Amino acid sequence: MVEETERDGMVWYRCEECGLMFDDEGDARQHESNCDAEEPSYLQ
Ligand SMILES: [Zn+2]
Repeated sequence: MVEETERDGMVWYRCEECGLMFDDEGDARQHESNCDAEEPSYLQ
């Protein structure tokens, strides 16, 4: 999901999967549909 958040008087769009922030909602949504941050077991 894309979470809307306000910071420094600007609205940002954060990918809830990996925490990446975007200043453009379209970019955030596009990233989210391609985000593969689920269960990064290889990071353990
Ligand atoms: Zn992501």
